Amino acid sequence: MTDFTCDLGADGVAVITWDVPGKSMNVMSLEGFAQLSALVDGCLADPACKGIVLTSGKKDFAGGMDLNVIAKMREGGAEAIFAGVMQMHAVLRKIERAGMDPKTLKGGKPIACVLPGTALGIGLELPLSCHRIFAAENPKAKIGLPEIMVGIFPGAGGTTRLVRKMGAMMAAPFLLEGKLSDPKAAKAAGIIDEVSADPMAAARDWVLNATEADLVKPWDAKGYKMPGGAPYHPAGFMTYVGASAMVSAKTMGVYPAAKALLSAVYEGALVPFDQALRIEARWFTKVLMNPSSTAMIRSLFINKEALEKGANRPKVADQSVKKLGVLGAGMMGAGIAYVSANAGIEVVLIDASQEAAERGKAYATGILDKGIQRRKVTEAKKAEVLGRITATTDYAALAGCDLVVEAVFEDPAVKAEVTAKAEAVIPETAIFATNTSTLPISGLAKASQRPAHFIGIHFFSPVDKMNLVEIIKGKDTGEVAVAKALDFVRAIRKTPIVVNDARFFYANRCIIPYINEGIRMVAEGVNPVLIENAAKLVGMPLGPLQLVDETSIDLGVKIAKATKAAMGEAYPDGAVDAVVFWMAEQGRLGKKADAGFYTYDAGKRGGMWEGLAAQYPRAAAQPELSHVQHRLLMVQVLEAVRAFEQGVLTDIREGDVGAILGWGFAPWSGGPFAWLDILGAARAVEICDALSARYGARFETPALLRDIAAKGDSFHARFGGGAAAKAA
Ligand code: NAD
Repeated sequence: MTDFTCDLGADGVAVITWDVPGKSMNVMSLEGFAQLSALVDGCLADPACKGIVLTSGKKDFAGGMDLNVIAKMREGGAEAIFAGVMQMHAVLRKIERAGMDPKTLKGGKPIACVLPGTALGIGLELPLSCHRIFAAENPKAKIGLPEIMVGIFPGAGGTTRLVRKMGAMMAAPFLLEGKLSDPKAAKAAGIIDEVSADPMAAARDWVLNATEADLVKPWDAKGYKMPGGAPYHPAGFMTYVGASAMVSAKTMGVYPAAKALLSAVYEGALVPFDQALRIEARWFTKVLMNPSSTAMIRSLFINKEALEKGANRPKVADQSVKKLGVLGAGMMGAGIAYVSANAGIEVVLIDASQEAAERGKAYATGILDKGIQRRKVTEAKKAEVLGRITATTDYAALAGCDLVVEAVFEDPAVKAEVTAKAEAVIPETAIFATNTSTLPISGLAKASQRPAHFIGIHFFSPVDKMNLVEIIKGKDTGEVAVAKALDFVRAIRKTPIVVNDARFFYANRCIIPYINEGIRMVAEGVNPVLIENAAKLVGMPLGPLQLVDETSIDLGVKIAKATKAAMGEAYPDGAVDAVVFWMAEQGRLGKKADAGFYTYDAGKRGGMWEGLAAQYPRAAAQPELSHVQHRLLMVQVLEAVRAFEQGVLTDIREGDVGAILGWGFAPWSGGPFAWLDILGAARAVEICDALSARYGARFETPALLRDIAAKGDSFHARFGGGAAAKAA
């Protein structure tokens, strides 16, 4: 069984077909590379072969490099990675040269590539080394180089080739942002050459008619000039200076891959092509050796996919949702109805008044209309999606629903009422889920006649944009309910984590202390600009004060009051409340009020509000940047460790993936547990001990972390494959 096969046609065109056995999508492995290389050698040496068409036996071309192989390559260290990458360069360069004499550029055989569908990562780098790329008319196909999204960059010549093909400026969105295009857009951008209804025939035809000049890449021809100018050209100079500033601003210096990519592009642009490939390989090796790329690949690719495929799904029969009931058509209910209908599920959307239910449905109309404007959605698709949503006040319409998600007011009495009303109509076997953010699931389940069928499915706002869904098991929640929730989340193409019932579940449990720590610092007289920048410079997408402005101060007040009522004497956040309540009294309710910790002008954020300094004067001595960062990160991470120790989280993969997708926890780190591993448990203990000596219990070192440090262990070494803390 091989990944590549070759078939020489009577017309002299050899078709090399990539079809990895047992996989729905081709991924490249080192063995695959070796097979491809041998087949190309054979074709180039065979006098009967006039040229090659490289294609895929699947509906797509390829999904990229097998990231597990990349993880393995690392084990051999930098030298092994560099040697491996140079070997890939050699194969792709051989395809590009196709047997031609390097001096006369004559004697090569044409090699075309046919993309029936998606072509990502190495799945595009390989075509880029061919002489002409033909794609099928397939608007669903995605073409691009998304490596940057998992903390690496295109390191098999994609960076060097794309920049030489289209210039640094035009290549920037594809390399630096991992922008993906459909075939038409990829052709318009100049990434591929032709889009055709019958790309095989077109490619075959091209191979049979190609001239020797057609095979010579611009960068191999005499007098080649980089499009848009090389770095020392006046126009090129502006591009590189601008790109450098843009990357620094966007990454805050915490994503090594973006900077390395830019270095490879800049340095590569100054030297001939083959030297540029070596430079690309060096920077790529450097990035692969950085623990950030290991952590990002593990969390954002390997583990995210494992969770989506049901790593923690109970082994019960398929629980696909056929008909969904959504109770409450407010902000969350409307979003849940839209994403579900969009995924092909029939939805009954209920609110207390017909007007409110219709308003919820109109939310879907709004999103679909935006999609039409952006040409992502057709009128037919809009009609189809809206046709699946029935907006009503009539609970009888819930008959036959196999899942109901409740998103009414955050009030136990209202929730109990709608639970009873729905259960009176839905089948015995149906699952009832609540989207509550703050109320314990086991408490709400008391209103249910079937607590084994009662579960939490916690979405994040806005539902259509946020990819994490927290599934919460109450005390009596059964396996079928968990499987139902997981199958539902899978159908709407989001990423699930499954946690046990505890105050604020997982995500909010960690993010609230982050916000609170920022506010505490304000009360201590730390310059708010230092607080916000410290957070961003360590990779948090929003500083804690901006975050509270976005979510609103009054929500903070509400949560603080409810938490205090529930915790009584043990409530630890009085210092935070003093600031938050005072802000609320000043009417500074956050972004929605155009006034918060920041100033706003019609929703546009300005500088920090100066009035804060009058109430909370800045201390003469300000803390070190790293001290502020340790406080802001540690306070979240320790909550994650405690959640794991206490069995709220049962899998650190969920802790890492959930943190990045749920609240944007420093993605470069791979998540809270991965961050502790990068830091080293011993150093983490040192930091916690120092912080807890100064600030008290919230920084106390958890016993589990201390144990990991004492044994020279790491979280991922001990619990990596999904092992639970209790198993330790
Ligand atoms: P919302 O106020 O926007 O919507 C609630 C809707 O429920 C309203 O349209 C209201 O008319 C309707 N409703 C109230 N009583 C009803 C009844 N008896 N029958 C039918 N409909 C009724 O609130 P939201 O922000 O959408 O939050 C809803 C739930 O989702 C809450 O439990 C909240 O904790 C949770 N949640 C909210 C967020 C968020 O960011 N807003 C995030 C996650 C979870």
